[in-house]
This record gives sequence, C-alpha cells and structure tokens, in this order.
Amino acid sequence: MRQFKTESKKLLDLMINSIYTNKEIFLRELISNASDAVDKLNFKSLTNSDIKLDSNDLAIRISFDKDARTLTVSDNGIGMTAEDLERNLGTIAHSGSEEFKQENAESQGGDVDIIGQFGVGFYSAFMVASKVRVVSRAFGEQTAHVWESDGLEGYTIEDGERAEHGTDVILTIRENTKGENGEAGENYDTYLTEWGLRDLITRYSNYVRYPIQMMVSKSRELPRPEDAGDDYQPQYEDYQELETINSMTPIWKKRSSDVEQSDYNEFYKSTFHDWDDPARTISFHAEGSLEYDALLFIPGRAPFDLYSKDYQKGLSLYSSNVMIMEKCADLLPDYYNFVRGVVDSADISLNISRETLQQDRQLRAIASRVEKKITSELKAMRDDDRETYEAFFENFGRGLKFGIYSSYGMKASELADLLLFWSARENKMVTLAEYAATMPEGQKAIYYAAGDDRERLSKMPVVKGVLDRGYDVLLCTMDVDEFTFQAMRTYHACGLSKVYEDEVAREAAAKAVADGAEPEVEDRDIEFKNVATGDLDLATEDEKKDAEEATREHGDLFEAMKEALGDKVEKVAVSARLTDAPACITTEGPLSLEMEKVLARGPE
Ligand code: ADP
Ligand code: MG
Repeated sequence: MRQFKTESKKLLDLMINSIYTNKEIFLRELISNASDAVDKLNFKSLTNSDIKLDSNDLAIRISFDKDARTLTVSDNGIGMTAEDLERNLGTIAHSGSEEFKQENAESQGGDVDIIGQFGVGFYSAFMVASKVRVVSRAFGEQTAHVWESDGLEGYTIEDGERAEHGTDVILTIRENTKGENGEAGENYDTYLTEWGLRDLITRYSNYVRYPIQMMVSKSRELPRPEDAGDDYQPQYEDYQELETINSMTPIWKKRSSDVEQSDYNEFYKSTFHDWDDPARTISFHAEGSLEYDALLFIPGRAPFDLYSKDYQKGLSLYSSNVMIMEKCADLLPDYYNFVRGVVDSADISLNISRETLQQDRQLRAIASRVEKKITSELKAMRDDDRETYEAFFENFGRGLKFGIYSSYGMKASELADLLLFWSARENKMVTLAEYAATMPEGQKAIYYAAGDDRERLSKMPVVKGVLDRGYDVLLCTMDVDEFTFQAMRTYHACGLSKVYEDEVAREAAAKAVADGAEPEVEDRDIEFKNVATGDLDLATEDEKKDAEEATREHGDLFEAMKEALGDKVEKVAVSARLTDAPACITTEGPLSLEMEKVLARGPE
C-alpha cells in the first residue's frame, strides 16, 4: 500500500468532508473528468494526423449494479498510465488537466473545453463511496492499470486489463445512514437508481459536450397475435436500451441568428418549468477580459411563488458547460427577480469546490451588464409591444416600483421610465414621459392621488379640482406607489417644450418658430405632488387672497366647526383648490391620508 503523497490523512479528510456542501456533486466531478479525458484525446487527434479516431465514438457511459452496490463512470478518452495514476490520483491537489491546459495553451483553440483545474474533484467520490477502483488504459499503451483506495490512508496500483483505451471509475456506494437527533439520514441508494442518476446528469451535466449514455429500462407493447380474440388485452415487455441522457448542445452558445424562437421557447419551458412561452428572450455574448454567454428570459407571467418568502431569484451559472450554481442570486437585482436564464463562462475563477465564484468583481461585471440588457429589452417591449408590456407590468410592476423605493430613489434614473400609471384624464396606463409630454404650459408638477380604489379616487373633489385646471392626475392604487414617488422626488423629463420666464426671449423664440425653426426643447426635473396633501400651489394669487379673506370673514364659524370636531382636525379653512365640490379633507406635511393608513396597517 502506498501512502497518499501530499500531506496527511487530515487533508484528504478535509477534501472529502468539508469543501463540498452537497454530496451529489461527485457525479458532476467524475463526468467532468471523463469529459476532459475525451476532450484531450480528441484534441490530440486533431493536432496529430497519425491518430485515427472517429470522434462520433467518443462517449461517457454510466452504469450501476444495485446488488454489488457499484456505480461506474466510464470513458473512452485518453486514459492514464501507471505513472499518471500515481501522479494524478495519488497526489491530492495535483491537476493533470490544468497541466494539459498550460502545455497546450498556444495550440488549443475553441475545440477544447477542459473543465478540471484544482485537482480535488476526483476525491469527492469518497463522499458517497467506501471504495473507489479506477481501471485505466492510456491511449497507445497495451496494458491497463488499476488504482484502488478506501480514501483513508493510501492506495494501491496494480496491473489490470481493459479492452480499449479509456478509464472506468468504479465506486462502491456507501450504505444508507439513519438520521440522528431528528436529522434526516443520508440516502446513498439513490445513486443506484436510474431516475436518481438521470436527475443528476440532467441537472449538472446536461450540456457536457460528449454524450453521457446509460442503459435504461423501457417498456413496449408486443405485437398482437393473429389469432387474438375480441377480449385480447395488449401485452407489454420490458427491455433495456442505451440512451443518451444529456442534451449536449448548450443553446446559449449558439448564435441567436441560428436558433429558432420556438427552440428558445422549448428550452425555457422545459428548463424553468413554465407552461407558457417567455414574453421576451435575450441572448448575448460578451467578449473582452471576461468572456461569457448569457441567455435570459422575461416570463409572460409571474411564477406562482414569486411573492412568497421561499422564492429564490437568480440565474444558473455554468462554467465550460457544467453547472456551478443553480441560482446565482448575485447576478440579478431584486427588482428583476422574475428573470430566468443562464450565464456561462469558461473564464470565471471558481472556488475550489466549484460551487461559487472566487471573485465578486467578475460577478459584479456580469451582473451590471445583464441588468442593462434587461432594462433595454423592457424599454423595447414598452415601445414596440405596448399590450404585452402592460400585461408584463401588471405582473411585475410592483417589483420595479419597490426597486426605486428600496434604493432610496438611486435606481430611479434607470427604472422610472419602465413604470406605468393610470391616467385619470386618458383613462389608460401612461408612462411618466407620456404624462410629461402632454403637460400644458404652466403645469409645474406631476399630480397623483393614492388610494385603494380607482373609481373612488377619480371622484375625489381634489382630483376633479386638478383635472378641471387641465392637468392630468395619476391614480395610484398600489401600496408602494406613494413611497415610490417620495423616493424619486422628481422625474427627469426630456425634450419638453421650453418654458421662457423672460418675455423678450419668449417672443424671440415664437418668432423663430414662425420663421420655420424647430421649437426649442429642454430637460426638466418635475416634482411629484399628491393632490391630497399640503398646498398644491395651483391657485392664482387672487384666488389665494380670496380664500384667506373668506377664512377670516367666517372665523367664528370655522372656530365652532373645529371645536365640534375636536381632535379629528387640525384646522378648518376656505380652500382655493376646490372647483365644484363643497368641501374636502386634506393633510398637511408630506404624508397623505392614504399613506398614513398604509403605515398604520404596518408591514404585511
Ligand atoms: P481536476 O479535474 O480539477 O484536474 P480531479 O481531482 O478531478 O482534478 O482529477 C485529477 C486528475 O486526474 C485530472 O487532472 C486528470 O489528469 C486525472 N483524471 C481524473 N479522471 C480521469 C479520467 N477519467 N481519465 C483520465 N484522467 C483522469
Ligand atoms: Mg475534475
């Protein structure tokens, strides 16, 4: 028995028991090694014309024997010599694959996708196996060798037999354990079932570029005998068939011009478990210091659990076609939590367990690009397919508003133009830009009213008062609306017709337009104003003066009213904001009655 080279039993123990949070990734690691071995041989044949190889034969095969409790991962790749076995499997943290990448860095083109890097993945097998036996025959050699270990002290290497070049990794799977102290036990048996293995292969290794095959049980109907009578019942027989389990070609690596939308839709529905087609598909390839492919989908409607606590946002993160994280939350801002998709990069630096990334900087760079893409896609949707966009907004608008509110308005510059509100004047949803564009000269603010019910809001005297002056009012019925406006404070409107304070300049401009010049435009920050709070400043000086006078005149009456109402009101006065309604209730200060109601209700 040879002792493991590098360091002690402790290191091995650490490898096996501490670096992975998830035992099931062992299969991903072994399949990745098999894929690397096949890739290396393929590469060799491409660069050396003496090697005759049919690349269609290259494959990875998974098989299991329930009774013997063995699971085997085989490949017909480059194989290992006795020396390779010693160096690669006898030394923890030695990666033959990383060496291969380095050695061939120059000649290696887009045709190789080596996954290995740290030289520890192989040992993850001991998380589920009490013994691992590796039978390998190096390409071009006549003899095979057998490496065997229980993952504790050391390993043995002996001569062995294998018909062809390649490697079999044979795991003796551990027995199930019983749970202790209320915790569930470990279920290893699942690695000896067809569906358990199929699940792991499709989840982690679905896009490995070589076929991963497994014998699977099927059933078929037997031909109906000629003398079968009317009461004949169809007969079935079970049989076994070799099936390629993985789908291989990662659709996100194809150029979008080569992919039909229906294929994207199929991929979306099967991968993200939706019955409906996505509303939008975004696919792009980023070049530069960090190369990656991204394929993103905007769903047509909200996933059923979107607003539940259990909902996890995130994009699937792949590196060299192998899944690293199923939901990488850092790739999406909260307000785009409904977006589904995949990011794949061979360049990202993974941590040793290949479960997360090592560098936040890389993630942040990808995330910021992803966010920009989503924003511009949503804007395109708003402009060229308004109906779908309104349906989208119905589903996800609350999240966008919340994004502005929870960033204290910092995100307003990006998100404000994605918002829609109900216009009391137009009787439909409008964007803030549309609202601003139809403001008559002299209108200084964007007016809104907030409450539970649109119908009721539109009948509020203060709303009518503003509408009667020719100004539109946004009717807001979502709890987050008012907070959103408060966080934004202003809306930055572009291309509004210019307002001239100075009479001479105004006349000069009017003359220029009459002479055929384009009217001048300007960008302006417009304040939001709740029609129900504070002073709207709509009344003219005269109207205000009249109101003040009337208040004074009827001082006694208002005093009496105030007394009768007691604590319920702060003051009673004549208002210049009403047009045809006799009276209204308003608040002073920044909070409207409606918002006070929301606050009083407390967090939901
Ligand atoms: P990594 O894949 O990160 O290099 P592993 O611990 O998974 O590390 O594997 C260690 C090394 O063992 C690999 O780099 C490779 O050289 C060798 N190896 C593992 N599995 C195979 C295989 N199926 N065929 C050929 N070589 C293999
Ligand atoms: Mg590996």
